[in-house]
Amino acid sequence: MKVAIINLGQIVSGDWRAPFVAGDTILTEGSRIDRVGTAPPAEIEAADVVVDAGGMTAIPGLIDSHVHITFGDYTPRQRTVGFLESYLHGGITTSISASEVHVPGRPSDPRGVKALALAAQRCFATYRPGGMRVIAGSVILEPGLTAADFKELALHGVTLAKAGFGAVKTAYDYVPLVADAKAAGLITTCHTGGSSIPGSGAITGDHLLAMHPHVSFHINGGPTAMPDADFERVIRESQIALQVCTAGNLRTTLLCARLADRFDAFDRFIMGTDTPTGSGIMPLGMLYTIAHCASLTDMPAERFICAASGSNARVYGLNCGFVAVGKAADIVLIDAPDGGTQATALAAIKNGDIAAIGGVLTAGVPRFVGRSRNTPATTRKARVVHSRIMQDFSPASH
Ligand SMILES: [Zn+2]
Repeated sequence: MKVAIINLGQIVSGDWRAPFVAGDTILTEGSRIDRVGTAPPAEIEAADVVVDAGGMTAIPGLIDSHVHITFGDYTPRQRTVGFLESYLHGGITTSISASEVHVPGRPSDPRGVKALALAAQRCFATYRPGGMRVIAGSVILEPGLTAADFKELALHGVTLAKAGFGAVKTAYDYVPLVADAKAAGLITTCHTGGSSIPGSGAITGDHLLAMHPHVSFHINGGPTAMPDADFERVIRESQIALQVCTAGNLRTTLLCARLADRFDAFDRFIMGTDTPTGSGIMPLGMLYTIAHCASLTDMPAERFICAASGSNARVYGLNCGFVAVGKAADIVLIDAPDGGTQATALAAIKNGDIAAIGGVLTAGVPRFVGRSRNTPATTRKARVVHSRIMQDFSPASH
């Protein structure tokens, strides 16, 4: 399928160092982006679907780099089905598993955690709830896992490993496990801050610096923050990615954003929701964290959209998160919310409002055009002006 999105007011690239692309058009072919900026009229006419964005802003589909998926579109923690499809209506087009720790009765022996990670990875390899891409299968680091185990997992498609919920005596016991997982090519992640569930302990700056995982999960606290002084240490003394999460401490999210800016570490500043958890299901979590960061710091709104898209993609090695030729055709149309005080999506976000969503495309397929079922209505109107596809792209009726 070829899709043309025309009449865009602004295009956010996903790259915080060069956050805008000039032009008003995006063309997709199959599951990839084919053109960004302008396109000859003949190519637009040849598209199977043409979406008139009505002057809205296009951004890369948001990547939530901290989602507690299990199996299917179901969260046992909040006993709810359909949450991933609902997150898509919050502009999230990719969810990255924060490990499958919420699977009821989850195994804790090496053989069991390996099987769990592999099964989760396989179950989401082609299954896209509502169009959502899910990167699943994050092996939970447990004592007894060996270098050979990580090599075997990597060979069979598992890409992630998570420290923080294993039956270790102290968090320093993760040091060799993280090293072995890294050596096998896995992206290693680590719980940060106070314990989140009974049985897990606090992990702070000293532990992170000893382990040096790729990503400090919810560095702002999940939900309880580590000491303030540790933020600067982790930023200055390591290359660890700094993931801030919605379901955490907002004050330290802002502290971390400002320090990342000051110490030229904003490439490593990334976002997730850390949901569903005890904090609930938050389809608009990414939009809230973007609005909180933009409205409560001196930094512009587009910077945090990029932290929630392209920067996540870079840290996790994904071919999405950017509005650029060859990248995955995951695009979100955003706008100033209807009835607000601001004229554009970016001005609304800077004002502290969440952006309204007017359409989502994933893998080159329009999942809805017109109105998100979760955000406020858009000020402008996006509509399908031409379609050769036998499919209903009409606005959601609820
Ligand atoms: Zn979490």
